[in-house]
Amino acid sequence: MKKKVAILIGILVLLIICVVYLFILIYKENTTVGPEITRNETGQDISKQEFLYKDELLELGYTISEIDSIQDKLSNVDIRNYLLTKKYDGLLSFMASPYFKTPNINRYQTYYDKNSYTYNEVVMYTEIGLDQEFYSNIEDADTERGILILVNKYYAIDENYDANLVAISDELGGGKMNVDAYDHFKEMCEAAKKDGIKLKSVSAYRSYNTQKNIYNNYVKKDGQSKADTYSARPGHSEHQTGLAVDINTASSSAHFENTKEYDWLIKNSYKYGFILRYPEDKTFITGYKYEPWHYRYVGEDAASKIKSENITFEEYTIKYIDN
Ligand SMILES: [Zn+2]
Repeated sequence: MKKKVAILIGILVLLIICVVYLFILIYKENTTVGPEITRNETGQDISKQEFLYKDELLELGYTISEIDSIQDKLSNVDIRNYLLTKKYDGLLSFMASPYFKTPNINRYQTYYDKNSYTYNEVVMYTEIGLDQEFYSNIEDADTERGILILVNKYYAIDENYDANLVAISDELGGGKMNVDAYDHFKEMCEAAKKDGIKLKSVSAYRSYNTQKNIYNNYVKKDGQSKADTYSARPGHSEHQTGLAVDINTASSSAHFENTKEYDWLIKNSYKYGFILRYPEDKTFITGYKYEPWHYRYVGEDAASKIKSENITFEEYTIKYIDN
């Protein structure tokens, strides 16, 4: 009798396991999300490994060896969605960039045709957004990035952005700064002091409304297009993140670039996680004229890479964060 009960319980347990397993299978089937378009007109599943668009690409004018590379590097879904309407002369060269994204191929080609940049530069600059006018395609800044948040003429933060602020000592200029940035700013100022260099903030955190007033006043004075070269629109200022600081001056006429304080910062700021954010030769990327006094806290690792590779924070973002 006991044996029969044990067998029955055994069968029941097995049955329950089977049913649960079946449910899991059904659930998985329903929640797996595939690429947007995975079938072509004839109902073929184009997400499969097999290469389907050789004839179409031949007809567009690509050579067999080009088609082999395309097949090798891109998915059928991307080929079908982005490459079948016209031939892109630079396709293979753009594809060689580590930052290449198939959906942007038309933007790369258009930007390349209008400028004298290399293929690599075109991919990088397009990914930054430079093929589109400043302030024309505004997205929300990725606030999850913390101290690596990118705020520029393409990425904005809202009025209520929490910059995690602390007060700056009067000795270092007063005002407010992000707590992490301030720790490192203090450290940097102390190290500078030991070398006989005096650093202080003349402007660190600025609220959305403060920036709005500043910007509007500049627009009144100089007109919008000139104001845009040196002042950020509200929501687009790094100062609103609490991570930026204008050191010792904020005026071009002071020629901070000719001071020993500037030299010291250029040589040492990266050790404390600060970068010169708007260098003289990168205005076409940053969208701002040279600001030898404007430093941005990004942390030591990012600051070291940006300095040693002589790149902007925009380029750093594409290379090390988005990629
Ligand atoms: Zn500034």
